[in-house]
Amino acid sequence: MKYRTLVSAEQIEARLAEMGAEITADYAGQDLLLIAVLKGAFMTLADLARHIEVPLDMDFMAVSSYGDATKSSGVVRILKDLDTEISGRHVLIVEDIVDSGLTLSYLRRNLEVRGPASLEIATLLLKPGLQKVPLDVKYIGFEIPPDFVIGYGLDYYGQYRNLPYVAVLEEE
Ligand code: 5GP
Repeated sequence: MKYRTLVSAEQIEARLAEMGAEITADYAGQDLLLIAVLKGAFMTLADLARHIEVPLDMDFMAVSSYGDATKSSGVVRILKDLDTEISGRHVLIVEDIVDSGLTLSYLRRNLEVRGPASLEIATLLLKPGLQKVPLDVKYIGFEIPPDFVIGYGLDYYGQYRNLPYVAVLEEE
């Protein structure tokens, strides 16, 4: 497979530092819980969390979207739920990418009914204009073109998650 760099490791690091500073300011004095959706968001969570300077907890969910590997169907199955109660807590969902927004919209509704004190979304990448549902994303790393990307947690059939940068897959 051929691919080319879209967002470099240096750009990611610099932007996550900025986002971390913003989140640190916004959540000062609050009880913050970061929730990452496995598997794609693990790298964003790990690197973003190192730039957040308020005490925080982390928890993980795993979901699977029915349909093929490169398109979201919006039908989401929870494979692993949170270990933590989120009632009354300030929750920040950390995502790798928002494409159609269907997965996040489902998750948001699912978490909302558990009664968090607040619920916001941070994503490293967002493909503007492709959202099929209105979605309020508070922290956005980079807006990118509507191409399929890999790296920095994002896979293509399970591979390429380890790339330290985000790349565009080029079909041969
Ligand atoms: P959405 O529901 O917003 O369309 O996207 C759901 C999930 O599809 C994302 O969390 C991500 O796992 C996957 N996804 C969406 N766009 C891309 C992409 O460009 N590359 C990869 N590897 N996964 C994507």
